[in-house]
Amino acid sequence: MRKVGIAVIGSGMGSLSTAALLASKGHKPVIFEQNWQPGGCTSSYWRKGFVFEAGATTLVGLGKGMPLQYVLDQTGIDINARKLDLPMQVHLSNGQLANRYEDLEDWITEAERVFGKEGQRPFWEECFKISEFVWRTSLKQKYFPPSRLKDLINSAAKVSIDQLKNIPNAFFSVEKVLIKYKLDKNDLFVDFVNEQLLITAQNHASQVNFLFGATALCYTNFPNYYVDGGLLNLVNPFVKYIEEQGGEIKLREGAEVIERREEGYFIQTKNDQYLADYIISGIPINNTFEIYSGKYQEKLKSKLMQSKALNSAFQMGIGFKPHRDFDSIHHQIHLSKPLAETESASIFISLNHSEDKSRSDEEGLMVMSVSTHASDPEHKMINNDKAEAHVIEQLEALDFLKKENIIYQHSSTPKSWSKWTGRKWGFVGGYPQYMNIKPWQMLDARLDNHKAYLVGDTAYPGQGIPGVTLSGIIAFEKICSDWKL
Ligand SMILES: Cc1cc2nc3c(=O)[nH]c(=O)nc-3n(C[C@H](O)[C@H](O)[C@H](O)COP(=O)(O)OP(=O)(O)OC[C@H]3O[C@@H](n4cnc5c(N)ncnc54)[C@H](O)[C@@H]3O)c2cc1C
Repeated sequence: MRKVGIAVIGSGMGSLSTAALLASKGHKPVIFEQNWQPGGCTSSYWRKGFVFEAGATTLVGLGKGMPLQYVLDQTGIDINARKLDLPMQVHLSNGQLANRYEDLEDWITEAERVFGKEGQRPFWEECFKISEFVWRTSLKQKYFPPSRLKDLINSAAKVSIDQLKNIPNAFFSVEKVLIKYKLDKNDLFVDFVNEQLLITAQNHASQVNFLFGATALCYTNFPNYYVDGGLLNLVNPFVKYIEEQGGEIKLREGAEVIERREEGYFIQTKNDQYLADYIISGIPINNTFEIYSGKYQEKLKSKLMQSKALNSAFQMGIGFKPHRDFDSIHHQIHLSKPLAETESASIFISLNHSEDKSRSDEEGLMVMSVSTHASDPEHKMINNDKAEAHVIEQLEALDFLKKENIIYQHSSTPKSWSKWTGRKWGFVGGYPQYMNIKPWQMLDARLDNHKAYLVGDTAYPGQGIPGVTLSGIIAFEKICSDWKL
């Protein structure tokens, strides 16, 4: 049995963030990944001459005070990212187009043009103020949520009047703020808010607290980036850095059992057995529960979520010959009638950047990633052919592509997600925001009050790459402070 210092389960962006930070302190983490490719939901793969994104396509978190930038600064990892001029376009169900400009004033003018003047300015000004506060605070409160006295002391030492003043925003929903600004009767705007929240908070206005909801809604008011060649080129520099510091990544080597023993954590992987001093679980809590045996398993049980509270995705990758230019690479389409197969009322589309020639073998071709939410993944049966046909129909109607120009297309369902990421029922996107889970009731990075820690999008729900990176930073801070690493 091989002995290792720090074993990391999974190579998602949460795991990689903690592992890179630990490597920067001289540790040599060993990462076990069940897939043939690192990155999990943030990854890319080649097929039929095209590079497709596995899951995530949008990227924020670079820039001063943002989580990803923090990890890059601490480790010296270099990412080659382009800043986007227009982060997103939203195609509303009534046929109107809303340009989600980054600049707040430009966006408010656009929102007033599209949704009418009433309430827009104060609503967006308040959202933006809170989102700036959340980003500012997130890196200051690295012991969040506090679960030990010393976390409370650490948090209290850094608490500001600003932070105290903002706590009440966690107690009411985005829906309440829509009512406050008399926007709740503006059906077009309510639909807009709900569908935008779904991609950044995984739930609708009635279930997302205003603190997180405001941040989610202002996702496009912070710099958005694109990485040439796909988001695997965000992941690979992390892997390279960890390996350069003496760490390892073992692909196709899933962890099957983790057992806490007196001498350390016993790990049975697909091919081998290991004994680790520390465990970082970068897989969802539902998965961690299934492989972690011992007295703490019972405690984890109360934290598990049921499939009906979770989402998976129906996703398509399309390689095609474009017949026109696009003003933005990211688009959300709001449907007048939900897609029958997924019951989702919106479709999210991402294209390759026009200057990135590395996503297709043949010049002049483009790649499109399409995703829609699929709720209750345990019980969701999706007919791929029908769902693909409906999506293509919508894309043609909005002039995104012409059917005859499609060179290759394929799709994935919750089952495919379960295979690619190993995630229970193929649920992705993390735990959705729910009003009954306040920020300080989020899962703690300390898994068993000993040397096992949890990172990833079940520890920091709903906020995608920036959220899981933050979960990785928090786990790193807690493990270092708990064990003087
Ligand atoms: C369709 C889709 C679109 C998205 N769009 C965006 C977006 O545009 N922007 C954004 O910021 N976020 C987006 N997200 C969310 C974001 O991709 C995820 O929240 C984030 O990547 C999750 O990271 P993670 O660290 O939780 O781990 P994961 O990505 O879940 O990675 C976990 C890893 O662990 C591995 N694993 C599982 N079980 C085992 C085991 N037993 N042993 C070893 N390895 C194991 C998996 O193979 C996987 O590689 C999207 C997600 C999806 C699915």
